[in-house]
Amino acid sequence: MADHIAEALAAIVGEANVRCGADIGEHYRIDIGRKFEAHPAWLARPATTGEVSAVMKLAHAHAIPVTVIGGQSGTCGAAVPEDGGLALSLDRMSRVEAIDTLSMTMKVEAGCVLQVAAEQAEAQGAFLPLDLGARGSAMIGGVIGSNAGGNRVIRWGMMRDMVLGLEAVLADGTVVSSMTGMIKDNAGYNWKHLLIGSEGTLAVVTRAVLRLRPLPSTRQTALIAMASFEDAIRAMRQLETALSGQLSSFELMWEDFYALHTEAQLAQRPRPMPLGHPIYALVEAMGGDEEGDAALFQRALMALTQQGLVADAVIAQSARQRDDLWAMRDDLTPGYAPLRPFAAYDVSMAIADMPTFAEQARAAVMTIYPDVTMLFYGHAGDGNLHALLSIRRMDKQVQQAFDDAIYGVVRRFGGSIAAEHGVGTSRRDYLGWSRSESEIALMRSIKQALDPKGILNPGKIFAAL
Ligand SMILES: Cc1cc2nc3c(=O)[nH]c(=O)nc-3n(C[C@H](O)[C@H](O)[C@H](O)COP(=O)(O)OP(=O)(O)OC[C@H]3O[C@@H](n4cnc5c(N)ncnc54)[C@H](O)[C@@H]3O)c2cc1C
Repeated sequence: MADHIAEALAAIVGEANVRCGADIGEHYRIDIGRKFEAHPAWLARPATTGEVSAVMKLAHAHAIPVTVIGGQSGTCGAAVPEDGGLALSLDRMSRVEAIDTLSMTMKVEAGCVLQVAAEQAEAQGAFLPLDLGARGSAMIGGVIGSNAGGNRVIRWGMMRDMVLGLEAVLADGTVVSSMTGMIKDNAGYNWKHLLIGSEGTLAVVTRAVLRLRPLPSTRQTALIAMASFEDAIRAMRQLETALSGQLSSFELMWEDFYALHTEAQLAQRPRPMPLGHPIYALVEAMGGDEEGDAALFQRALMALTQQGLVADAVIAQSARQRDDLWAMRDDLTPGYAPLRPFAAYDVSMAIADMPTFAEQARAAVMTIYPDVTMLFYGHAGDGNLHALLSIRRMDKQVQQAFDDAIYGVVRRFGGSIAAEHGVGTSRRDYLGWSRSESEIALMRSIKQALDPKGILNPGKIFAAL
């Protein structure tokens, strides 16, 4: 080992679980969009909460910046460490410890991959509702750290709504633990909610108790097309009622997004529905009536068609067809490839404002770059829009012009610059466009109270203390 910190880390986690300098792999240094790169001095991979605590005590004593890295699937550079800092990976803490199908809870370590947790729940007849495209790499700690949303928020909420208990290690190494599975707990401040979504700036999450649900036995999926955004939202509201609360996903795609991705995937699967509709939505319902759910779904869509709200509908008739429909929304790499490099946005606003927001954002960007390619899609039921902007080149000036234009319109609508992917590094300078000065001052006081030396993921969310 090269230095005394490396030796101290090795004494805690074992020499095989420490890397230094140039031996640290890209996963721990570069974000998924390859926009941010760092050169941490050390990587440590602890295997227990006790080891995380000892690592944090060491870092605290030497004022070493620490960044926890999960699956590195976040999109805002939040898991990129400091130059000369410590990269902390919990990938050795990946166990599902227990599943209780009576209380409907799961005890899990923070390094467990989301998909693994979901599959283990399913094997026991239970359901972990949170689902997102990066399910195969995102880890429970990262999903909690970023309070991820995903495809089923409309019914089951964001990660915050699924965390019943939490264990975490504070900046000075103190372990705080409330690994209970209680749904109701108003005994004082609910500190876990401060940590959820704090992007590794307040504590290192080590374990959690997650709320599970009974495993739905039916799943109906359809692609529907509408003449306008307003029709889409009316259709969504009617489906919520007609399906008696079973509506689980309503993923909206503007026509250009649908055209691009279905075109790029033609070698793998046919386009499910012709082009020519302004708005498409991927709709899914999950339930428990194997006799009746399919008919209920069909009747609900038929009613929308008869009212003229839905112009066309394709219902998946098999698991294969369902996967093909979801691929349109999940398998975005081939479609996006020719647009690289691009800028991606994750903003939110009142649902009713979404179409006007999209129009104004398009106009604002086209004033600067008339030849821009701009694609909108999103989780319509949550008021969450994703936008992708490309002029097929990118530098600081282009990025800033895009950011100013998009976040300027967000500010006008009183929306959020970071709906579900977090602030990290890339949105940090725009936090004040969504949050008031007093809100940011409060956030800073919380940071100061929990991490007075400012060693936990410095420079993320706001500039370092
Ligand atoms: C294809 C694709 C689709 C996606 N779809 C969605 C989506 O629909 N909805 C959505 O919300 N996001 C989505 N994301 C973004 C991303 O997957 C999520 O934000 C995810 O929750 C990040 O998990 P991770 O383990 O990769 O975390 P990382 O990217 O490694 O880290 C994210 C943040 O959490 C912190 N962190 C990591 N582990 C811990 C820990 N143990 N304790 C404390 N803090 C920690 C990190 O320091 C960082 O600040 C998508 C990403 C991709 C690539």
